[in-house]
Amino acid sequence: MTDTIEIDRLQKRYGSRIALHELDLHVRPGTVFGLIGPNGAGKTTTLRTLVDVIRPSSGSVRVLGEDPRHGGVALRRRIGYVPGELHLEGRSSGHRMLSFYAQVSGSRDATATLRTGRELADRLGVDLSRPVRTLSKGNKQKVGLIQAFMHRPELLILDEPTSGLDPLVQREFLQMVREAKSAGQTVLLSSHVLSEIQQTADEVAVLANGRVVADGDVASLRLGSIRRVRAEISTTDAAAARADFDRVPGLGGVEVHDSDGILSISGTVDGAIDPFIKVLARFEVRDLTVEEPDLEESVLRLYGASAANAGAATSEAAPTNEPPTRRARRGREGRR
Ligand code: ATP
Repeated sequence: MTDTIEIDRLQKRYGSRIALHELDLHVRPGTVFGLIGPNGAGKTTTLRTLVDVIRPSSGSVRVLGEDPRHGGVALRRRIGYVPGELHLEGRSSGHRMLSFYAQVSGSRDATATLRTGRELADRLGVDLSRPVRTLSKGNKQKVGLIQAFMHRPELLILDEPTSGLDPLVQREFLQMVREAKSAGQTVLLSSHVLSEIQQTADEVAVLANGRVVADGDVASLRLGSIRRVRAEISTTDAAAARADFDRVPGLGGVEVHDSDGILSISGTVDGAIDPFIKVLARFEVRDLTVEEPDLEESVLRLYGASAANAGAATSEAAPTNEPPTRRARRGREGRR
């Protein structure tokens, strides 16, 4: 079966700046594919070429079996797209705007599309009677999501779709993605938040500086295995406590601060968190935070600064020195 998205050796230059270096990405039908990477990695550039907002400098892109450049209206009707920078400035109400989109999008009956749009507005909690330009950033984003989902397109291309949404609405959005997948739709979403990719994506590609530095399923990439930890414990023997923590496997970048019997300890745990918790439990714990590190930190830690800078990945997930583009292609062939 043809892949829903086929990107081969895609290169994009902005003047002398190369935003994408011979990128290879394939998305299989009916899957959720996550594109993650730090700011400036090339996510938006990649997604824009899929909807012909920008054109490749070289390489080839096919979406639902067609070249986006020549697919025209017929191809666009099969796609739902949320751009990275959503501008909704019109005087018309959300309802009126969605009515218009319902007329022009997709092959479904416009009334059924609009009914779905209203249901999604209820779920996401947005008032469609207000002029869209008066809506807050988060509420505009909700209207953007609704117009992309309501005609139930074969393919959803979502660029940082949860930007500006509060956590409850983000959860509802993730549910919408799961429902789309159950209905057989294909979803490509970009994010720099690892957790939302982890919760939805079947496969993921990590982009850094316009190159795929790793791809595969989320677990194999081990990006989620790193956590940033911070704890405060009471102890009368800071040196002994420090020595205990030094023996915790996977705990790195440790910083310790001792103040009047309160020891503040911070660092990153790579792998199982249990050994750290077990050592912590020997003390009176006054505070504890366990956080997802930012994606840049994860990418750099796992794939190395050189990978992020030059694309020469050296990870456990992909322990080879072959160029990432080749690895991406090999992985894709392996899945076929
Ligand atoms: P973010 O998470 O910050 O949105 P991104 O991964 O989506 O980042 P892109 O917006 O695709 O990254 O940008 C990739 C690179 O291309 C960056 O170095 C950016 O500065 C550059 N770039 C993007 N658009 C343009 C443009 N119109 N002109 C010049 N350079 C651009």
